[in-house]
Amino acid sequence: MTRSMKFFAFENHGNLSDNTYDRLRTLLAEADVPIHSLKTSWISIQTQLDLRVRNYDCCIEGCMAFTGEHKKRRKYEYCKELRFVEPDGVVEDDSLFYPDFELYTTLKARAVFIYIPIIPRLKLLYANQTWSGKMRYPSTLNSEDPASANEESESNEEK
Ligand SMILES: [Zn+2]
Repeated sequence: MTRSMKFFAFENHGNLSDNTYDRLRTLLAEADVPIHSLKTSWISIQTQLDLRVRNYDCCIEGCMAFTGEHKKRRKYEYCKELRFVEPDGVVEDDSLFYPDFELYTTLKARAVFIYIPIIPRLKLLYANQTWSGKMRYPSTLNSEDPASANEESESNEEK
């Protein structure tokens, strides 16, 4: 693992804020130990693992995602929450749908659901030392894990 990735992992496990990480980065640079920014490290991981993240607009209340037949939806009929931050006068009536896509291409969604497809998620798990160990074949785990071996012998003694 490169130096930058070690600090990136440290940041993630240590709950450091982005500002604290930047200050640490400055101190390290002054000590002639340069590391990449969080953004650069994250892009590097995404590239190495071929991680493609998809963003979908969703209701701010978490009711639904605006996909498929709901792609042109302006608000959900039950919770009535607006999908976008709308400047006054963009849509005059109280309609549930936008008449066309062009009307909302410049608007900012109030909430976004970040979706990572299953294959990249599995790649992320295998990139994690602890989880890649847990996801081995069960027979491999039994022979290497003394705790489970003890459980087995204890249950044999009970019989
Ligand atoms: Zn809703």
